[in-house]
Amino acid sequence: MDDTVAAACAALTELVGDQADEWDRQGRIPESVVREASRRGLLCAQVGSEYGGLGLNSRDNGELTAHIGSLCSSLRSLMTSQGMAAWTIQRFGNAEQRRTFLPRLTGGAVIGVAFSEAEAGSDLSGIRTEIRRDGDAVRVHGSKIWTTGGTYADLLAVFGTCGDGAAVILVPTDAPGVRVERLPDPMGCRAAGHADVHLDDVRLPAGQLLGGAGMPLAMLATSALTYGRLSVAWGCAGILRACLDATTRHAKHRVQFGKPLAEHQLVARYLAELSVSDQVARLCCASASACWDEGSPQTGTQAVLAKYVAAKEAVKGAASAVQVLASRGAQDGHPVARAYRDAKLMEIIEGSTEISQLLLAEHALLGSI
Ligand code: FAD
Repeated sequence: MDDTVAAACAALTELVGDQADEWDRQGRIPESVVREASRRGLLCAQVGSEYGGLGLNSRDNGELTAHIGSLCSSLRSLMTSQGMAAWTIQRFGNAEQRRTFLPRLTGGAVIGVAFSEAEAGSDLSGIRTEIRRDGDAVRVHGSKIWTTGGTYADLLAVFGTCGDGAAVILVPTDAPGVRVERLPDPMGCRAAGHADVHLDDVRLPAGQLLGGAGMPLAMLATSALTYGRLSVAWGCAGILRACLDATTRHAKHRVQFGKPLAEHQLVARYLAELSVSDQVARLCCASASACWDEGSPQTGTQAVLAKYVAAKEAVKGAASAVQVLASRGAQDGHPVARAYRDAKLMEIIEGSTEISQLLLAEHALLGSI
């Protein structure tokens, strides 16, 4: 691990301390922690130094993401959204938009990414939020659900229809017509500030619209989601590492039937399986990040594969951890209980397990022609 990544990991360790379970219970990370993580460029660490960022490659950012994933999936969720938005600005914004917005994302501001709507979940073609030109301004009208980081956000990257195509627009949360409504009591990642967002004919300067208008929705969404999938996958690798550590520690020390749990072969099997899950998830993540860093055309598929594998393994691994810790891990406030709830949500976001399977099957069929 190079010095920049090690320093970034240390900064996050210090920021989180032993607070993750308390934040989870309260459903809120202190504003000062979120702002500080943003101000140090930790929430979108692939942004280059010319915009105040750390300029990490995907592999190093992955290690950083796994580290925060092992500590606090709620903060990791904010990191995923911020990185996804930053990547969308880098990819579709013009030079002036990059100069305007990226330093804000490495300088203390928080951004959420809003695709989902009541009728547009897995199938984003159901998006009804409308972005339309109005003279030299732009108007946005619609409603979004489950926007991660919405309650912390200064800005939202809102995906909507635009003429015959689609567009992304950066909406300040204090603009007239924007209403952010906290989503109460999510099952996991409880401190990630999920929110529903109502956009009532919000009028904004045209400079908030990224890269013009009327682009294909699939291109816009796939670009953002590829970053998001890789980030979630690395986060899952972090969940697995935390579960493996907690489980081995417990199994070495807890004695039942006259010997440590680890010496009971049925318990040792859980340790072996967790260790395999940890390694497999990491290898898939590293392979996808290598594709990203090389600019390989396989990046999209590898990101789907990494997210699919890592999320499934995290769900299985967290369940094993709770099983081995038993009553010790079966209570809110224990990291493996939190991991168990957080991991399940990773099978839903950025393309569910089923949508990932469909995409992987499509890829397999293309390969077999
Ligand atoms: P649905 O699309 O209704 O799917 C329901 C079930 O049917 C799923 O199991 C799905 O896999 C399955 N299914 C659907 N279609 C098919 C098919 N063709 N074949 C097989 N199975 C299928 N959205 C945002 O825009 N921004 C965010 O920041 C964000 N953060 C989130 C954070 C969390 C913790 C969660 C839980 C959700 C978040 N979402 C966010 C919303 C998320 O993107 C959607 O929940 C996700 O896309 C799935 O949509 P849905 O919940 O409407 O499920």
